[in-house]
Amino acid sequence: MRYRKVYSAVLLFFCFLYLESIAQEHKLIDSTLTQRQDQMLHRQAEVLLHIADSVLQAFPPQSDEPIPRTLALYLLDALFHDVYADRRPPVHDFLKDRIVKAALDIERTQVADGFVIWKMYDHGFIVRSASVTIAFDLIRPEIRLSSMNSHTQDALEKIIHTCDVLFVSHRHTDHADAWVAQRFLKQGKTVIAPPGVWSDQPFYQDISHLERNGQIKHAIPIRDGTIKLEAVIYPGHQGELLNNVPIIYMPEGYCISHNGDQNQGQIAQDSLWMNTIKEAHNLDVLLYNSYMHQRWIPKFNPKLVVSGHENELSHGIHSRHPYWAMHQRLKPMDYPLVVMVWGERFDYRP
Ligand SMILES: [Zn+2]
Repeated sequence: MRYRKVYSAVLLFFCFLYLESIAQEHKLIDSTLTQRQDQMLHRQAEVLLHIADSVLQAFPPQSDEPIPRTLALYLLDALFHDVYADRRPPVHDFLKDRIVKAALDIERTQVADGFVIWKMYDHGFIVRSASVTIAFDLIRPEIRLSSMNSHTQDALEKIIHTCDVLFVSHRHTDHADAWVAQRFLKQGKTVIAPPGVWSDQPFYQDISHLERNGQIKHAIPIRDGTIKLEAVIYPGHQGELLNNVPIIYMPEGYCISHNGDQNQGQIAQDSLWMNTIKEAHNLDVLLYNSYMHQRWIPKFNPKLVVSGHENELSHGIHSRHPYWAMHQRLKPMDYPLVVMVWGERFDYRP
């Protein structure tokens, strides 16, 4: 009898340990699900992200998008519209792996003709011609995804090392990362932002606040003044907030614009300068944020639209703009569109 009691107690103890080990293995993300249901979504995300990644590699970004690539993008849309996608470790790993791989590619890529565009998180881009590398709204994704344990800092350090200049559109943290700006400044590289961004930081005086005026073409010396970049900084807004919209000429003559979070805020005021762009510039590529209405694209009249800011995971799912919506939006328009996923590259040749 006594042995039976001891035996039951030992059995109970091991059952407890076993259940405890399962609970520790899987941290419940969605509290409306059971442990096993949540675990199922975790496992499914791992498998589907792996497949999507293989398809995206086999079918790289292009305006004439093959069906398998479109399906892979829509698979990502479905996975990223899990309410808790922003907290799921497989999603974090997918994002980190892509930034790490992009960093390696950026380190070893030399450009002969045209320019290369790499998409970062989330409306961040790296653009490289034969003579210059420009960063736009570069951030560490982990500053937006608080539960992300896999950090991208080392990869971004490598990327920053290869860049010449950083353009920051506005102060929101999905576009402006003080750590990134300081890395640029420490390496003696120019950081351009609207007035007020990081005004409470000691490095504020080192930021270039180029006049936001469509009539002025600024010459920006880079690489110790051996190369000059030309840029017009249009005085854009996101609501009331100052948002720089630069139009940049690379030394090779290519022209590119990044619109930050330009949106319908100050529509009357911003229409004034926007109506002049088409006549003043011959734009190759518009790096277009998914928050700006598509009716403004013809005002930039680019040869190519490269979209950004889709699936910003730190937003609620209603404003994680899906890739499918970007396709639908641009479909009736006369502009070729390239939709990219974090870490991908597109080689632009006019
Ligand atoms: Zn944004």
